[in-house]
Amino acid sequence: MRRVAIISGICAVIVLFVSVTWKLANSRTFQLFGEIVPRVETSQRVVALTFDDGPTPEAVDQVLSILRERKVKATFFLIGGALEEHPELGRRIAQEGHELGNHSYSHERMIFKTPSFIREEIERTDQLIRNTGYQGPIQFRPPYGKKLVLLPYYLSKTHRKSIMWDIEPDSNPDLAKDANKIVAHVLSQARPGSIIILHVMYKSGAPSLNAVPGIIDGLRQRGYEFKTVSELLATQ
Ligand SMILES: [Zn+2]
Repeated sequence: MRRVAIISGICAVIVLFVSVTWKLANSRTFQLFGEIVPRVETSQRVVALTFDDGPTPEAVDQVLSILRERKVKATFFLIGGALEEHPELGRRIAQEGHELGNHSYSHERMIFKTPSFIREEIERTDQLIRNTGYQGPIQFRPPYGKKLVLLPYYLSKTHRKSIMWDIEPDSNPDLAKDANKIVAHVLSQARPGSIIILHVMYKSGAPSLNAVPGIIDGLRQRGYEFKTVSELLATQ
């Protein structure tokens, strides 16, 4: 009986540990060190449009021309490895006045990694972003939004925040394949200070890319203005 009790106790502790770790790694609003930003507290009708991953030749031209036509500045969280492959795409994004953010070098989940791996992923990507000629602030977004202990520790030690999001239409399989549903979801969820994440850089992201004009026009009709993430943080 006693052995059964001990084994059940150990199992319960393991289950608790795994579930706490999983929740912590995936939380959009809590981390152990430093600041995590799922949206910005503001009463102004301002939002940030953010594009994750890439840059890829499949999407950069199209997304830049949509933003140029509508005079919107967005934030691109770029992968260092992709930027190294396509430095000209990074330069174009920077030249058009958008914000470039750091989305790690390899886009691996930054949990259960060494401190030197984490440092290298972040610093190398910052340098690649600077090589595009971009001079503005560089914000950081963890790949898959995942973080546990060492990543938040390194970020807070180097005065960086974790930039998350509060609206993520294309992570929902019921919405991701339909541009109209993506637009409707964003218009219904947006509130002052929202950070919208879209994955437009891959072929699978075509509905998200097609949703961008509708999102911009719809939110403008509702009185919203578009800011980069750093501008949004400054409205706090
Ligand atoms: Zn990503």
